[in-house]
Amino acid sequence: MLRKDKRSTRPLGLSFTMRILLVREGALGDILLTRPAVRALRRRYPAADLMAVGPKTRWRLIPEIDEVLDPDGLLPHHLAARAGHPDLTVIWAVHRPAFLPAPDIHVSPYPPPGMHAADWLVRSLGPHADPAPGDLEPASRAHTGAGIYLHPGAGAAWKRWPADRFAELATHLCGVHLIEGPADGNAVAEVLEHIDLPVLRPSSLEDLAQHLRTACLFIGNDSGVTHLAAALGVPTIALFGPTDPVQWAPLGRARVLRRCAAHAGRQGQIRVCDDPTCLAALPVADVLATATEMTVDKDVDDASREPGA
Ligand SMILES: [Zn+2]
Repeated sequence: MLRKDKRSTRPLGLSFTMRILLVREGALGDILLTRPAVRALRRRYPAADLMAVGPKTRWRLIPEIDEVLDPDGLLPHHLAARAGHPDLTVIWAVHRPAFLPAPDIHVSPYPPPGMHAADWLVRSLGPHADPAPGDLEPASRAHTGAGIYLHPGAGAAWKRWPADRFAELATHLCGVHLIEGPADGNAVAEVLEHIDLPVLRPSSLEDLAQHLRTACLFIGNDSGVTHLAAALGVPTIALFGPTDPVQWAPLGRARVLRRCAAHAGRQGQIRVCDDPTCLAALPVADVLATATEMTVDKDVDDASREPGA
């Protein structure tokens, strides 16, 4: 990703650059959900250096971040030295990493019931945020792709729509590829037991993003890959079950389908339902109808995410 060099645009004679440290470890989807908060910070402090502590491959997807301090590649005291003494430290984690400076803001990344995770992070910044409705919009709306990508994997088996449903869905669609990430071997193999489909195995997150950009439709579970597709502006169908889309729906061009009847949410919990048939209750016909709607009438899905809608 290209980054602006803030130093080159700073007025001459001004030697102070504000440094902001953000801490959010977590999965791909978790990092993508920080983007509205990062944008709100950037708008409030246009010339600041934004540093993020967390996985480098994931934080690179947030173009407003200037520097990533990846704990995987650094010893704690090296990381602390690199972080230095920021002017503002924000920790979105249950526990504060001991080697980092005392935070100005420290909140759990789990939103309270009824609030979306991205909104929660923006609000946690208080006066340091300058949010805008467009922060919840996808990065790009330009889409000329032809393929349909199905991603049957998810971070937990209970977040997966059944493999035979994915297989049945694929029989009704053209140009279908399965996406297999490093942890998706079982989920993809189960689909292939029912139907023979080409499988895409991206070599990196950037490679995955490049492939997703060529899609006209993406269908997946509540997973990081689904969050990425929606964030890239790919028309996306997100199949939810035990997790609450009010809190965890992907940002961007996504429709969430869910048939869970469980009452959602205690604070700090991601899973709100223990019904093993919850995701299975979502019929192929519903997904197919939404897929048809999103690929035939491409403006319909945009309407649900317009600012203020
Ligand atoms: Zn449920």
